[in-house]
Amino acid sequence: MADDAMPVLRPDRTTVLDARGITVRYPGSPPVVAVRDVSLSIAAGETVALVGESGSGKSSVARAVVGIERIAEGDVAFDGAPVSHLGVRRRPRRLTGIQMVFQDPSTSLNPRRRIGDQIEDGIRAARARGAEGSRPEEWLERVGLSPDMVRRMPHSFSGGQKQRIAIARALAARPHLLVADEPISALDASTQTAVAELMRELVQDLGAGMLFISHDLAVVRRIADRTLVMYGGRVVEEGPTEQLWAAPRQPYTKALLAAIPEPDGEGRVPHGPTPEERAMWTEVTPVGA
Ligand code: ADP
Ligand code: MG
Repeated sequence: MADDAMPVLRPDRTTVLDARGITVRYPGSPPVVAVRDVSLSIAAGETVALVGESGSGKSSVARAVVGIERIAEGDVAFDGAPVSHLGVRRRPRRLTGIQMVFQDPSTSLNPRRRIGDQIEDGIRAARARGAEGSRPEEWLERVGLSPDMVRRMPHSFSGGQKQRIAIARALAARPHLLVADEPISALDASTQTAVAELMRELVQDLGAGMLFISHDLAVVRRIADRTLVMYGGRVVEEGPTEQLWAAPRQPYTKALLAAIPEPDGEGRVPHGPTPEERAMWTEVTPVGA
């Protein structure tokens, strides 16, 4: 993807996201502590994966980081500036340098607006920050769609194509950080890997960082520089992806990696832990404890 109009914003490995000791609680009786003392940093150009079973707190971390969930404890800095003091209402507007891609692309796209106009929203956000904007047609090409589709409405696209459009809209804002929460889970198995690899490539072209949440460990292994494993709201293990796969230290990580289906499967972890695995995991020592 050689394109002179797409300069690498940050050739050095500046930290774009630095979250320290964040805790997320949901009210109720009893209250749910969804995230406990999680720290996480992402450098420009780096893809960091967050994996773990359903309910382990991955989405809560993502929501806290982008500012749509209140942080009970801890601090988040974005591009070196603290942001956790900004209220949840103000943060998404203030932090257009962070963009998000969700599991269901239909929720990211307005069904009643032409896709070109929606990508234009992203371009405007980039320009408002003084970043260079490009044209919706260019973004459609970058995500593997035809530039003459700009005038079409979202309903005329497949799920995989809609997700490509949502990715185009998010990246057109030239974020320094893309947070993607299960962006490929709702897609056809045949397109999941291609979409994930496309995200990785485009994010790298921008020189941005990416937080990639997925339970597709085969895909994580292909695209993530580092992987964090969550269990029960904590990060129980983290490291360079290859190192983690080669020598997982925690029983939980071993069980998680062992659950990767063979290549003829769907490429997903189909089920939660067995009771035996669960018993082992109670021995897991959180990182930094
Ligand atoms: P994951 O994305 O790994 O599946 P979540 O962050 O969605 O995990 O959820 C972590 C925990 O917080 C779960 O126990 C979940 O039931 C709970 N939870 C998530 N969102 C809410 C909410 N809005 N209110 C109450 N509990 C929630
Ligand atoms: Mg989730």
